[in-house]
Amino acid sequence: MMDSGDRVLRAMTDDGGFRVITLQSTQTVSEAIANQVAQVTASEGAAPLSMDVLGAFGELLTGAVLYRETMAPTLRVQAIVQSADGTGQIVADSFPEGDTRGLIRRTGDALHLNGAMLQMMRSLPNGTLHRGTVEMKGGSISEGFMSYMQSSEQVAGMLSVGCQLECAGDGSVEVVAAGGYIVQLLPELEENMLMLMTERLKEFRSVDALFDGVASSPDTLMEELLYGMAYTPLDDSPVRFKCQCSRARVMASLATLPPADIEEMVREGKNLEMACDYCGTDYEVHPTELRGLTQPS
Ligand SMILES: [Zn+2]
Repeated sequence: MMDSGDRVLRAMTDDGGFRVITLQSTQTVSEAIANQVAQVTASEGAAPLSMDVLGAFGELLTGAVLYRETMAPTLRVQAIVQSADGTGQIVADSFPEGDTRGLIRRTGDALHLNGAMLQMMRSLPNGTLHRGTVEMKGGSISEGFMSYMQSSEQVAGMLSVGCQLECAGDGSVEVVAAGGYIVQLLPELEENMLMLMTERLKEFRSVDALFDGVASSPDTLMEELLYGMAYTPLDDSPVRFKCQCSRARVMASLATLPPADIEEMVREGKNLEMACDYCGTDYEVHPTELRGLTQPS
């Protein structure tokens, strides 16, 4: 499999005050958006996805990867933006090894993000799931993640994500740059260093400064965030768009349907066609395979 070139870096300052994670997610976001746009285009009469929604989608994917990087490497994160008015949701999944996927669900033509809730689900080392929900105050994805981090008390720090889109003449959407950072505050942090970093991050709150850093490389962004501070790189790993769907998982999800529904599908005798909402892969299930689901194994 080809790697996208997207990378996530981790570093720690030598005084033990900060851990910084920087991410360039341009290609990953680009492929995730292309998959969602293709599915909307393929469904007749559906309105195109708005630039606002696509931008939020790109930011949510980026934030999910950054947040997962603060945890143990084997854990996964799912971030969901749930509209307040029932118009839909945006989902981002970040898996160990950097596999990333997402989807946009709309109940109608428009998906409204005003007053939306950010729901975070992360797997814990003991295998259970931890859920937390916060209101996206101010409406931005960055602020949503920040208030989740404050409320969960897992990570003290500052996060910023961005996704810069351009609409081409033919109506297609291009991702110019996507990425972001987390600056985690560690127990060794000294007051004067916190003030220095707080001042510095004010510059990076401007979208342009973030994108200048992101667009060049996650290394440049790291150097700029930690300018003048001694630090040690800890990790450098690839990130890519990759779905986790498979024929086995499709069959497993069908097996959870009520037996009466499965029997009816078998009686109809037609192939069942299912497309993955994340990546658009088509799965065709033959009635004989369905019959197997109703019989105890
Ligand atoms: Zn898939």
